[in-house]
Amino acid sequence: MRTSIATVCISGTLEQKMHACAKAGFDGIEIFEQDLTVSAMSPEEVRALADRLGLTLDLFQPFRDLEGVDEDSFVASLARAEAKFKFMNRLGIDTMLLCSNVGTASINDDELFMSQIRRLAELAARYGVKIAYEALAWGKYVNTYQHSWAIVQGVDHPNVGICLDSFHILSRGDDPAEIAQIPAEKIFFVQLADAPVLSMDILSWSRHYRVFPGEGGFALDQFMGYLVKSGYDGIVSLEIFNDVFRQSDVERTAVDGMRSLIWLQDQTIELLGAGATEFPLELSALPAAQTPSGFDYAEIRTEDPEAVAGMLAQLGFTFRGQHRRKPVTLWSAGDARIIINTQRSRGITAQVSGFGIQVADAQLGTSRATALKAPSVPRHHTIDEHPLHGFIAPDATEVFFGTWASEPAWAAEFGAGAAPADTGLVSGLDHINLAQPWQAFDESVLFYTSTLHLEARPGTEVPSPMGLVRSQVLRTDDGAVRLALNIVPHGLEDTRDGALRYPEHIAIHTDDIFTLARRAVAAGMEFLAVPRNYYEDLAARFGLDEETLSALQELNLLYDRDEHGEFLHFYTETVGTMFLEVVQRKGGYDGYGAPNAPVRLAAQFERNRWSKY
Ligand code: MG
Ligand code: MG
Repeated sequence: MRTSIATVCISGTLEQKMHACAKAGFDGIEIFEQDLTVSAMSPEEVRALADRLGLTLDLFQPFRDLEGVDEDSFVASLARAEAKFKFMNRLGIDTMLLCSNVGTASINDDELFMSQIRRLAELAARYGVKIAYEALAWGKYVNTYQHSWAIVQGVDHPNVGICLDSFHILSRGDDPAEIAQIPAEKIFFVQLADAPVLSMDILSWSRHYRVFPGEGGFALDQFMGYLVKSGYDGIVSLEIFNDVFRQSDVERTAVDGMRSLIWLQDQTIELLGAGATEFPLELSALPAAQTPSGFDYAEIRTEDPEAVAGMLAQLGFTFRGQHRRKPVTLWSAGDARIIINTQRSRGITAQVSGFGIQVADAQLGTSRATALKAPSVPRHHTIDEHPLHGFIAPDATEVFFGTWASEPAWAAEFGAGAAPADTGLVSGLDHINLAQPWQAFDESVLFYTSTLHLEARPGTEVPSPMGLVRSQVLRTDDGAVRLALNIVPHGLEDTRDGALRYPEHIAIHTDDIFTLARRAVAAGMEFLAVPRNYYEDLAARFGLDEETLSALQELNLLYDRDEHGEFLHFYTETVGTMFLEVVQRKGGYDGYGAPNAPVRLAAQFERNRWSKY
């Protein structure tokens, strides 16, 4: 499949954008006119640079407000179009995007639309230019692809075809099924965009909140499936208007975009099944996705391992020993393994730095992540060590794949500690909560879902004294691996090194939280103190008996309940920017105690005297 991306998607000058797109692996680009207008490069220079970079120039866009107007206005538009055609000839671009009229249309008459677009086509033909007509979702008279397709058919000119843009179709809730019936040679261009499910005016939604495929809520694999069935074999491009992408690192955003198209091809193959390869559009498959069976370990980086080690000991973890070559220690309890790493930790009090996940075939997981352009962790190992392959997520978390029957093979590299002792209280890692820099969130969602084969659940928002925290859970269907991503509110980045002053955590699962909590308290642990008001509210909401309530309050435990079951949890004090959570799930409770998150954040804010300003 030939891939392209509109220059409007990313930040930088036109030259920087072109370099980044080529480096990320795109075959071509759409030139957004504004980017060219403000560029110091002449059209000939742009063309030459594209040649040098191996990029095709696929589309010139946008041309607006042509059809449905009186003759005088139309003639003026034709003159404007002719100037653009000449410009396009210098650039060597043969396709122009014509958006359905939004601003100037005053005559609602399909016949007029057709005749005016036909006259544009006749002019375009003289310059060897093709017109791709796109129905904007907020077009004044033409705003569905069925309507724009009817007009393209009525124009009946070889230089006029349709442009299909997934945003304009799916944002309206239109059924894309009829795309499969459009003759492939009349589909002149295809633009893809995903978007979070929002309830707002479509224009603002489109201009600010589009995201790359896989980062929003649209069924783009289905959209692609219909496109494939049409017999289309042309370019598939990304056209994303997103405020964050337009101010983020250009090379990273370009890779994020490329990753989305690689992932989407694979998703579409999965959807179409065995017949996927019988169509002209050649989709590339990824190495097979594997659903992870659980966490392998969680890793904490700290220059002061004692504080973290102390907390683990209080929670019943066993010190398993130090790595024979590295200043890294292993702690375990049940199936929960936590690594304390003091390498590259200068200035880091404590942070969640990475985790491992278990898959059936670690090598396959690595191949898939590599194909998805995940940057690898530069980590060397000696010949007698178990080779681990890891990747750096957009939020800087280091993620490793492992394949083991019971204890990981790498655990043998740790020694001089105790044998794994099982107190029976901790059963494993429940979830890991990762802080997301504002510019990494969408990228992280696609990264983790595509490389780790996790499913994104609908996001939530949690109020905190630091601001509103957007939160999204990514997980396996069975809950064996759960990640919660939180967007850090503005102003919590350390301006010197970009580190986030926002807590992340590792949640440990137990089947007996009261015993575990009492033992931890007896061992000297202090939990995050929960305000008294919380328990009054709890009593009012759930009608808990006095005994349960006072037990909860005595231990600073939090409680939630839904139609499936109950959830009990507590938090340790924060060390650096991390803390630990202990959770117990009863019955079929499958959430994370979301109603309690504001209580936790407020208590931490108070306790740690975090300040934004
Ligand atoms: Mg478009
Ligand atoms: Mg982090």
